[in-house]
Amino acid sequence: MKLHTKILLGLLIGALVGLLANVAASHSDAWTFVIPALGWHVSPDGIVDFVNTFIATPVGQVFLRLLIMIVVPLIFASIALGVAGLGDLRRVGRVGGKTIVYFVLTTALSATVGLGLVHVFRPGTRITPEVRSELMTTYGTDAATKVEQSQNAKFGVNTLVDIVTRNPVRSAVNDDFLGVIFFSLIFGAALTLIEAQRARPMLGFLEALNDIVIKVVEMAMKLAPYGVAALIFGVTSRFGMALLKPLAVYIAVVLLALLIHTLVNISLIVRFLVGVSPIRFFSRIRAPMVTAFSTSSSAATLPASLVAAEQNLGIPSSVSGFVLPLGATMNMNGTSIYEAVTIIFLAQVFGVSLSLGEQVVVVIMAVLTAIGAAGVPGGSIPLLIGILVYFHVPGEAIALILGVDRILDMSRTTVNVIGDLGATAYIAKTERMWDASMIPERVPEVGEAPLDDSPGWPPPAPAAVNAGEAQQS
Ligand code: ASP
Repeated sequence: MKLHTKILLGLLIGALVGLLANVAASHSDAWTFVIPALGWHVSPDGIVDFVNTFIATPVGQVFLRLLIMIVVPLIFASIALGVAGLGDLRRVGRVGGKTIVYFVLTTALSATVGLGLVHVFRPGTRITPEVRSELMTTYGTDAATKVEQSQNAKFGVNTLVDIVTRNPVRSAVNDDFLGVIFFSLIFGAALTLIEAQRARPMLGFLEALNDIVIKVVEMAMKLAPYGVAALIFGVTSRFGMALLKPLAVYIAVVLLALLIHTLVNISLIVRFLVGVSPIRFFSRIRAPMVTAFSTSSSAATLPASLVAAEQNLGIPSSVSGFVLPLGATMNMNGTSIYEAVTIIFLAQVFGVSLSLGEQVVVVIMAVLTAIGAAGVPGGSIPLLIGILVYFHVPGEAIALILGVDRILDMSRTTVNVIGDLGATAYIAKTERMWDASMIPERVPEVGEAPLDDSPGWPPPAPAAVNAGEAQQS
C-alpha cells in the first residue's frame, strides 16, 4: 500500500475509533462494569483516558516532535539555498516582493469570503443568552489565560522590527521562525555575493544539510500513518460533542468559507494562473494536507510540504525552498477566514454592530494578524483577541469558541498549507522555472530516490555558482 494511502487510512481510522470512544465515554455511567476477581471498576471514559495518556498522546507527540525538530535547520538550509539558487539578488527581491503581494492578496480574498458568509448566515444571532453564559463559565478560565497571552502579542511596528533578529540562535530556540527566515535570507544573499570558489564549500554544506533534513522528514513520514491516527484519536475522543449543536451554524460558516476558498479561489488560480488541473494538484499534495489536518500546525507541516512540492510536483527547490518557509509563517488563508468569521460572530453575540468601514478594517486586521500568527496550534488566538478588544468586544468572548477551536484549527491549517503550495506553484510558473509538464507522471514513494523521469529533479545547480564559474572562466 502506498504511504499516502496509509496516512489517509490512519486519519480515517483514528477519527472513527475516536468518535466511537467519545460516544462510549459519554455513556460511562451506564456502561461501567466490575472485574470481580481484581475488584476493578472499568468505565469507558477510564479506558479512553488511559489510551489517550499512554498510547495516543505519546505516539502523536513523537511524530509531531520529529517534524518540528527539523524545522529550523530546514528553514535555514532551504531558504539560504533558495536565495543562492535564484542567484541574482534583484531576482530574489522581485520574487520575494511578488510572493508577499500574492500572500496578501489571497489572504484578503479569503477573509472577504469569510466576511460575506458570516453576514449571510448571521450565526451570532442564534446564540441564546443562556448558551452564551454557559460557555463563558465553562471556558472562562482558559479564556482568561489566552487574554493574558494576547497582551504580549500586539501587532504593531515592533512586530516588523522584531523580524530583524538580534540573535538567530535565540530566534531558533524560541521558535521565532520569522527571525530565522530573515537571517537565512541575509545569509543566502551574502553567499551569492562572495567569490564563487569561497562560496562553494558553504553551498556544499547547505546542500548536504538540506538532504539530511529531507531524509529525516522521510523517516518521520513513515511514522505518519500512526502519528496521524493518534493525533486525530486524541481530538475526536475528547471533543465536547455537546458544543456542536449550539455552535453548529458558526462552525458550518467557517467550514463553508474554507471550502469555497479552496474549491473555488485556489482551484481557479491553480487552473488558470498555474495551468494545472486542480484534481491533479490536490492529489499530489495529499500528504501535507493530511499532516496539516492532524497536526494543526503549518510549521510542523513545512517538511512534508517541501517534499511534496519538490518530489510530487517537480517544483525546483530554489523556488519551493524559498516560498514554502515564508508561506508556512506568513501565508494563512484559512486563518484569515476564521478570524474574519469569528470577529463578526462574537460581535453579533455581544451586540456590537460594525459599520461598513469597520468591516474593511476587520479584513485588513485579519490579513495582518494572519501574517503575524505563528504556524502552531492555536497560533492565531492571541492576535484574534487583540482584534476583538479593538472593536470593543470583550477579549473573554473567546471562551465561546475555545471548545471547538481544535476542529476549526485542523481545517484552517489545511487551507493555510494548500495556500502555501498554491503560492509556490504560482511563483514557480510565473518565474518560468516550472510548469505542468514538469510534474512527474508517478509520485515517488517516500524514501525512494526521486524519479529520474521527473524533469524537476534534480534541482538546477545554484545559479550563483554557475554565474561565478562563468565569471572566473
Ligand atoms: N494553526 C494555524 C497554523 O499553524 C495557525 C492558527 O490559525 O492558529 O497554520
